[in-house]
Amino acid sequence: MTTHPLYLNGQFVSSDTALDVINPATAEPFARMATTDRARLATALQDAHGAFLQWRRLTGKARGAFLHAIADRVESRRDEIARTITLENGKPLAQSQGEVTMTVDHLRWFAEEARRAYGRVIPNQVDGKRHLVIKSPMGVVGAISPWNFPLVLAVRKVAPALAAGCTVVLKPASQTPICAALLAECVHAAGLPPGVFQVIVGPSSAFGDELLANPLCRKITFTGSTEVGRILIRGAAASIKPLSLELGGHAPVLVFADADLDLAVEGAMMAKFRNTGQSCIAANRILVERSVYAKFLEAFVAKVRSLKVGDGLEPGVDVGPLFDEAGVQKALEHVEDAVAGGARLLCGGRRVPGSRGFFVEPTVLADVPQKSACMREETFAPIAPVCAFDREEEALELANASVYGLSAYAFTSNLDRAFRVMEGLEAGTIGINDGVPSTSQCPFGGAKQSGWGRELGIEGLDAFLETKHVSLGMRV
Ligand code: NAP
Repeated sequence: MTTHPLYLNGQFVSSDTALDVINPATAEPFARMATTDRARLATALQDAHGAFLQWRRLTGKARGAFLHAIADRVESRRDEIARTITLENGKPLAQSQGEVTMTVDHLRWFAEEARRAYGRVIPNQVDGKRHLVIKSPMGVVGAISPWNFPLVLAVRKVAPALAAGCTVVLKPASQTPICAALLAECVHAAGLPPGVFQVIVGPSSAFGDELLANPLCRKITFTGSTEVGRILIRGAAASIKPLSLELGGHAPVLVFADADLDLAVEGAMMAKFRNTGQSCIAANRILVERSVYAKFLEAFVAKVRSLKVGDGLEPGVDVGPLFDEAGVQKALEHVEDAVAGGARLLCGGRRVPGSRGFFVEPTVLADVPQKSACMREETFAPIAPVCAFDREEEALELANASVYGLSAYAFTSNLDRAFRVMEGLEAGTIGINDGVPSTSQCPFGGAKQSGWGRELGIEGLDAFLETKHVSLGMRV
């Protein structure tokens, strides 16, 4: 079994310690990843700081050329990297290939954005002054990424930070570090100077503490649970460490009677079952106007029953395993709790019989009470709770009745309603007649307890830039 090294200051570094990386389809290890300790992270931050002093001096165009070169390397290894995503995360291969495509697009988007870190000139209000706004890279960035999109969510941080002129120490999720190791190989092959990008794996809590406490780390960008987001916020108080936080979600899908029902069913399928329901923007509650409720359920359940579940490496698989045993237990608890509360189980609801890995059947629950756990907590599983509403105001009220505000979806053919709904939904990303709204050139991030800040779009670059006002006194 291959043990992948860390990538530190331009070197691939092996270690005496390593962890097993499990394939969720078999519940068995398929690779190992070297690990290290907090002291080594402190050294990595020191090296990143040294590299920053040079990297920041490059033009945006030059940094962009490096990002294009990384994208070229990722593209040339597309099949191998996609297979690795499936092996460590479990998602079907076609979706892993989609993750690689999106990764390359993010790299190329920020390669171009590197040239556009525009400042501005602001008209003066008194004689003898001129006002400039300039943008400067923040410094060394600590990037912490999750397991559910092990490549693209890391690159969503790394690419804009590098484009902005920052250097990055990436800490991937311990259970899915291999994609980060492959990304390091691509970065190395692209010829980035030592210390500009590093990959480190080890104890997450101690690493978090180091990133928070070490003054050389100027920003932490984190994607993961709201719970860990809270830990970072508390820790950041001491040094007022800037944080970008992409946290949990609980997306509602609103289906109005005036919607194209086929489109709504397709959109809800995408929003729910992509990545086996383990996406922060996954549909967690599907709310359907009562007059089309039965019709929607009939069409939706038929589609769900036709999904092929299996090892993501097998051709034609739509739904892979859940990520780990804890995910299976949570999913089954959510089903049990909803049924106990009065929900009707229309299909699925069990662990896939006889499976070795962490497989749960695609499930539809109807008439789910609002108090059920799945209507309040992230389920992170292929489980679709559906319930009916009568009025648009009620739908919006139900949709917004969550501490989360990451994403939301609505299906309607009425333009006035589309505007009312997009203005009324409390979410950072909204798909109107669209189940897959995220794209490189548009901002992504959450309202309420779904986080702070935005990734992607022009906002994604700004997250790593300090805005400085320069007032120039002059003789007139
Ligand atoms: P998690 O447990 O919060 O872990 C995320 C990352 O944080 C991992 O790298 C983890 O490292 C690290 N970590 C854990 N404890 C830490 C600590 N005390 N200090 C610093 N780092 C720490 O989340 P997850 O289970 O991997 O991911 C699922 C969650 O992420 C869901 O809630 C999902 O909604 C959210 N998510 C949000 C977005 C978004 O864009 N808003 C996108 C994807 C996922 P170890 O693995 O080494 O413990």
